[in-house]
Order: sequence, then structure tokens, then C-alpha cells
Amino acid sequence: MNPAKRKLRAIERFWNLVKIKGRRDCWIWKGKPDKFGYAQTYWEGRLEMVHRVALSIHEDRKILSPTRRLNQGEVVRHSCDTRLCCNPNHLLSGTQADNIKDRDQRNRTCRGEHRPASKLTDGQVREIRRKFIPRRYGLKRLAKEFDMNFTTIDAIVKRKAWKHVK
Ligand SMILES: [Zn+2]
Repeated sequence: MNPAKRKLRAIERFWNLVKIKGRRDCWIWKGKPDKFGYAQTYWEGRLEMVHRVALSIHEDRKILSPTRRLNQGEVVRHSCDTRLCCNPNHLLSGTQADNIKDRDQRNRTCRGEHRPASKLTDGQVREIRRKFIPRRYGLKRLAKEFDMNFTTIDAIVKRKAWKHVK
């Protein structure tokens, strides 16, 4: 078999191991993850992270050409935070420093938004409304108590959110 044909076969075999869905969906690797939640496969004779292989195929890099190889220091990140995802639209290449910066930004966002509002129970929603007394048991105090953001508490109190809870 000529090298070009062999390469196409390998690419085909690789994508057969991925659950390919829509452009925006995560494409999950069908094989087993390692203990870190990532998956690896043999690619060009060495063990590689599957998401790195996915991006290199997509960008047509790294194929037996050392100059176009993903560099050792180059990190392939998931914009979707799903370690088994191989959708090239969810993959970005960058340096380790970018990777850390990314994670820091995400952590900050998580802290700022507190707990996702959907995790509140109906009972908690009733409790928030019962406790709320303007200027005495205010939105700020409730936000802190329930670890929710101010806007969400405001919407609950004004019955713009959780309208189904009487
Ligand atoms: Zn994804």
C-alpha cells in the first residue's frame, strides 16, 4: 500500500472510533479513558492523546513531516472541557501558559456566578421568598446565604423566576 493510501486508512480508522455528531456537539472517543479521563491511541507508531490526533488530522499537520508536527510544548485544549471530545471545532492548540490562563479565567467565572440557579429546590425558593424583607432581610444577605448571585435572588423574590413555585 502506498503511504498516501495508508494515511487515509489510518484516518478513516481513527474517525471510526469517534462518535461523530453535529458541528457543535462533542464527539466522544469510543475507547476507554485513562485514569486522567483522557484517551490515547497509537498514531504514526507512537501513543498519542486522541484529541491531539483529531486536531492534527483536521489541520493536516504532523503527518510524517517533522516540521508540521504538533510541537512537544504545544498543548491541545478543549473549549468544551470534555476530555474525550475529538470534535476539531472544540479543540484549540496553544502553549501550556495559555492553558493555565484559560483555566484561571474559567475558575474566576465559576466563583463569580456561584452555584447554578437550577440547583435550587422548590423548598429553598419558598424559603427565600419567606425570608425576604426589604431593607431588613435583603437580597444581598439572601444571595450570600444561598450562595446564589444577586440577580437570581432578585428574580426569585419578584417571582420572575421559579413562577411554578407557589
Ligand atoms: Zn467537545
